[in-house]
Amino acid sequence: MYRTHNNGELRLSHAGKKVKLSGWVQTIRDKGFLIWIDLRDRYGITQLVLEEEKSAPELLEKVRRLGREFVISVTGIVIEREAKNPNIPTGEIEILVENIEILNPSKLPPFTIEDGTDGGEELRMKYRYLDIRRNLVKDKLIFRSQVAQKVREILSQQDFVEVETPVLIKSTPEGARDFVVPSRMNPGQFYALPQSPQTFKQLLMVGGLERYFQIVKCFRDEDLRADRQPEFTQIDCEMAFVEQEDILNIFEDLLKKLLQDIKGVEIGDFPRITYAEAMKKYGNDKPDIRFGMEFTELNALAQGKGFQVFDSQELIVGIAAPSCAGYTRKEIDQLIDWVKKPQIGALGLVWVKYNIDGSMKSSVDKFYSPEDLKAWADAMGAQPGDLLLVMAGPANKTRKQLSELRMEMAKRLNLRNPEEFAPLWVVDFPLLEWDEETQRYYAMHHPFTAPKPEDLNLLEENPKEVRANAYDLVLNGNEIGGGSIRIYNKEIQSKMFEILGFTEEEAKAQFGFLMNAFEFGAPPHGGIAFGFDRLVAILDGAETIRDYIAFPKNNAGRDVMIDAPAKIAEEQLEELNLRIEEK
Ligand code: ASP
Repeated sequence: MYRTHNNGELRLSHAGKKVKLSGWVQTIRDKGFLIWIDLRDRYGITQLVLEEEKSAPELLEKVRRLGREFVISVTGIVIEREAKNPNIPTGEIEILVENIEILNPSKLPPFTIEDGTDGGEELRMKYRYLDIRRNLVKDKLIFRSQVAQKVREILSQQDFVEVETPVLIKSTPEGARDFVVPSRMNPGQFYALPQSPQTFKQLLMVGGLERYFQIVKCFRDEDLRADRQPEFTQIDCEMAFVEQEDILNIFEDLLKKLLQDIKGVEIGDFPRITYAEAMKKYGNDKPDIRFGMEFTELNALAQGKGFQVFDSQELIVGIAAPSCAGYTRKEIDQLIDWVKKPQIGALGLVWVKYNIDGSMKSSVDKFYSPEDLKAWADAMGAQPGDLLLVMAGPANKTRKQLSELRMEMAKRLNLRNPEEFAPLWVVDFPLLEWDEETQRYYAMHHPFTAPKPEDLNLLEENPKEVRANAYDLVLNGNEIGGGSIRIYNKEIQSKMFEILGFTEEEAKAQFGFLMNAFEFGAPPHGGIAFGFDRLVAILDGAETIRDYIAFPKNNAGRDVMIDAPAKIAEEQLEELNLRIEEK
């Protein structure tokens, strides 16, 4: 037996008890006549104490061999501490050591295992198993597990069946590249790793399960952006005999329950806005609504006053930054530089100070009277003391740039409070997206998403205008879930593939199995998938997902601990028919 108690457990009420504890050596303080050791395990830290005079020489010799992170087992008596430590639950007691067994020595760790020290990202990832010993990381993994358990509990209670779908599959188009796996037994052929279980969950609906969920790994070979992982986890769900409304209600409930049970936060009904509205008001299809600064379009007020820069533009749009009229020239110049940096790419920024005393001062005073500027402020619902920030240009591009500025201002003004939760649904996404470069349509969500029935007649003539029964759940400016009502009719599915540029043969070769299934009584169905890593991070008030993944990959998609991806042996290549012949 290694332990009678864990290291977070013992209290004053245990005094006098003989106990056995195991764990890692956190610190050793050797005062000569007294030696203290902090012993750590997953549950906490317990202080051990030895008195030189009263301890056997072999024991002392052993103790003086100990180093940080040695794994030891200790027997001793619980005693009351003289100097109590109110900061830890075991701070009133210590263990008077009778015997110590060294279970395993440790090399000096490359960084100290303490909350405040992590040795930097590279080192942490290389020695992730040591990093996980730190409370910060350990607690996040435990939190993730709790959320997963809660999700299982809530969905199971509602009759959802957890089904595992295969990992070695054929490509499903979700807009990213597939990771592929060569098949040794089928020379020249490859499996793809699922970008999501999309087609399988639809087939489970044809299979009559009616309610499916899975907490599942998905794989997307995308150019890595910050805080993206090539493999990530979804809570994937699908239901039969449902309309959009049913799905929104059920999964709104799921998030409400998670917020309540895990965070103790009660949230009312989630607002819903259309995609078109989100773009107009926030320039973004995943708006952060924890703060205002909504867009106001100023074309009618700002054009035709002799300011050429505005007159020639498609859109003039602004936000009112609360209580920023006091910005100095320098601060404003900084903002202008910020919007002009290549990542944002704006040509400039017009500013108007709506001063506390009601007076106006702007970068365009030459063209606009104080009354003109006051009319802008009124249109924006600005208050005296606000700073109006206005951009102009082609509509889509300008909205995007102003959205970035809105988020930046929120950050500077500390309006993105991680302990506040502001979910909303974005609905009525366009079905298709036109790509200028390849001159073709792409499915905005994926090719299985159903058009809105009332827009079906536009599918031939004006596909761009067709809206989909597709929805995203947005939380604090992050898309945490997305889904759609699916096509379940073979003709419409074929039409969709045609619009997406598949020939009939291609569609059949790639998705014949699904179209066939649709001919055997496929029920109406729809679903949603949540990004689990991100959801967990946001629930925990964090910005990055990496610490919520036990063994994450770095920004270049590498696992620096196991050093993957890596070359494989010549024989393996040969066996897999992957050896490139010398020509
Ligand atoms: N498979 C979709 C995705 O991964 C989710 C869904 O439509 O249910 O985004």
